[in-house]
Amino acid sequence: MKLGIFGGTFDPPHHGHLILAHAAAEQAGLDQVLLIPAARNPYKNGVCTAGDIRLSMLKAAVQDDLLFVVDERELWRPPPSFTIDTVEDVARDYNGAKLHLIVGADNFSQLNSWRRAADLRRAARIIWLARPGSSFTNETGEMVVNRQIEISATDIRNRVASGRSIRYLVPERVLQIIDAFHLYQTPETTSRT
Ligand code: ATP
Repeated sequence: MKLGIFGGTFDPPHHGHLILAHAAAEQAGLDQVLLIPAARNPYKNGVCTAGDIRLSMLKAAVQDDLLFVVDERELWRPPPSFTIDTVEDVARDYNGAKLHLIVGADNFSQLNSWRRAADLRRAARIIWLARPGSSFTNETGEMVVNRQIEISATDIRNRVASGRSIRYLVPERVLQIIDAFHLYQTPETTSRT
């Protein structure tokens, strides 16, 4: 089995995530993609929507799509969760699966400084998602999904805060949850990272 692992804050999940994860699955021949929402990191600046609401949005976003499995393993353990720990955990649960870690190109310059980066690259094949605004020189020979989609969760939150439409940027069911919980009403003053 070829298994994708796609982690993120998913605050909110958007069509960029879904289109690109599908493209990655198609390109790499993945059977399934685990979507793994990250826990809230209390040490980071800014507020992030509660885990249970982000989880509901993610489940709503992919509920009819057999490619995706929403995986809660990071949400209920104390942050930070290191990617290598999650990947090793997944490897234990999906014994024998060939793991592929899907990562946006905005993380390209940092991956080498992630915890146990060499082990991470041994445990999972990296698939990079090219991203508008992220310069990216792939000298590693790793797979790149070259589709450029200019959607970000930051822009979506800003649009909601300033009363602009996010229709078609997120699945309709995600939009309904954002409305129901009155998410993203306050403009962000600090960077989250
Ligand atoms: P934020 O704007 O809050 O940082 P985001 O849109 O980057 O959020 P995340 O949940 O942080 O969304 O992203 C999860 C993963 O998906 C990360 O690896 C991120 O780089 C990648 N990603 C998200 N949107 C895109 C995009 N439009 N193109 C390429 N990669 C993306």
